[in-house]
Parts: sequence; structure tokens; C-alpha cells
Amino acid sequence: MTDSHPQPLRILVVDDDESVRGSIAYHLDRLGHQVIEASSAAWALELFERHRPHMVLSDIVMPEHDGYWLANGIRQRETQTGAWTPIIFLSSLSEATSVADGIAAGGDDYLTKPVHPLVLEAKLHAMRRLARMQRELHEITQELQRANAELQRQAVHDALTGLLNRRGFNEQLQESIALCRRTQKPLTVMICDVDHFKQYNDALGHQSGDDCLRIIGSMLRQLARRPLDSVARYGGEEFALVLPDTPRSGARTLANAITRVFASAALPHPNSATASHVTLSGGFTTCNPDADCQPDQLLRAADAALYDAKATGRNRFVGA
Ligand SMILES: [Mg+2]
Repeated sequence: MTDSHPQPLRILVVDDDESVRGSIAYHLDRLGHQVIEASSAAWALELFERHRPHMVLSDIVMPEHDGYWLANGIRQRETQTGAWTPIIFLSSLSEATSVADGIAAGGDDYLTKPVHPLVLEAKLHAMRRLARMQRELHEITQELQRANAELQRQAVHDALTGLLNRRGFNEQLQESIALCRRTQKPLTVMICDVDHFKQYNDALGHQSGDDCLRIIGSMLRQLARRPLDSVARYGGEEFALVLPDTPRSGARTLANAITRVFASAALPHPNSATASHVTLSGGFTTCNPDADCQPDQLLRAADAALYDAKATGRNRFVGA
């Protein structure tokens, strides 16, 4: 859209004086714009809602509600949508109104009555430019917000599996400790490691290795699916789960379920000394977080239990 070939605008003209309204409407119509007329502020607000004009030209002094009231109403409605409609006040020299009051009420400019057609046209140009810049600014702001949200998401997620990454997990663990401390519920932390994953990669290639990790991630996600459960890819072939409101018995139940589900899924592992399918070893620890509970100590305990699971034959989970 260029200013030399402007699109017609939909303009709301508000004045209790029919002759003023009619004269402005006539000029706008001659400039090719579509005009909506209102004789009162209340009626204008209703028409504004209904037609969403590109611009509003409004008298200030009117019976019942004045032009400031109208501008306030328009701005209130716009805060929900982020839209912005230029409002130009029409003031008579005889009326004791100030430009400052109009701007404070949400107006953008003013014209003195009687309005000269050339002045009116120039104002429309200026306001149209402003409106376009405002719209672009709004779009850019939204784009930035989207990009920021996406960056935020990427910072705490693993690109391969879509699960939380180590950083996301650590944040989640902190929050879960705080939650369980408040609610006085037990918290379980579990770390799993894919058995003989290097041999898997060596036998089938890294692409298959990546596919396998993706499948394992989604299987774990399916198994730990309560709203507060979190599953993360903690390292190369290591996954970590934080499970609020989970006692030791619940952790054991989940561990057994993981082992069983991996056995029945039977993802082929061509070169595992443990089984013909992909298996996990895991360690978990359960605690009732108190004021001294530190994430590191939970992770160390789960890791030590994982080490025991590896040392005692793999394809099993050990509770600390
Ligand atoms: Mg008036």
C-alpha cells in the first residue's frame, strides 16, 4: 500500500451537529472513502464495534457522553486485540477544549471546525502512515515474542527427542523439589541408560542410533505421563525422569513397567551381550524433600544406583 494510490478507508464520523457531520462525510466521500455516521458517542462506540473502522473523526462536545468518553471506550476495546485506530478530534474554536485533554483521552490529533477539505485530506494521509507504522510495529513485536518463545523452548529441549534437555531437566528438578517440599509429598528421581548403546551404533550406524533414541524417548514419555512427570534426555544415551508425588513403591512399579514394556516392544539389538532387544538399566532414589534437599545429592544417589544396576547384570532398575 503506497500513499500515492491509497486504498479507500472506512471512516467513522461522529458529531451531534448534523451539518458538520454531513459536510465532513461529503468531503470524505468525494475522496473515495466509505463513511459511517453517528450522532452520539454511545452510538459511535456501538458502530465502532460493529464495523471496526480504519479511522475515527469525532466531535468533542456532545450531549450525554463526549468525545473523550468515546476515545476511552475505543482504547479499552483495543487493548484486547492490540489493534490501534487513529482518532482525530474535531473541535470548535468556541469550545473550551484543550489538545492535551484530547491526547490524554487517547486521541491522536485534532482538526478545527469548520474543516477545510485540503486539511482533512492531509490529515488522512498522515494518520494513514501512522496507522501503518503502528501495525508494522505490532507485527514485529509479535514476531519477536514468537521468536523469543521458540528460543526459550529450544534452550531447554533436546532437538533429537523433543524431550527436556539437561538444562530443562535441572530446572524441572528444582521446581519439583520445591513443589514436594510445599505439598509434603515424596519425590522420585530416576536415571536410565541404554545398555550397550555403543555396540548398537557400531552395528547399525548413527542414524539408526538416533532413531532408536527417539523411540526410547517417546516410550518413556508414554510410561511417565502424569501431568507433573518430566522426562529428559540427560546425556548421549541417558534419560532422566523426575516424578513428583511418587513414593518408593510407585517408583518400583514404574521401573518394572519400563523393563516389561521394553521386553515386549523388543526393539532389535544385534550386538547386545544382555538381550536380543534394546534394554535399559536404571537407578532411582526417593525422598521427602526438606529444606536441605539438594538436586545434586538426588542425582548422585540415582546415578550410584544406576551404576549398581549396570554392575549386577544390566536390564534392571535399582533403588538407592
Ligand atoms: Mg458538538
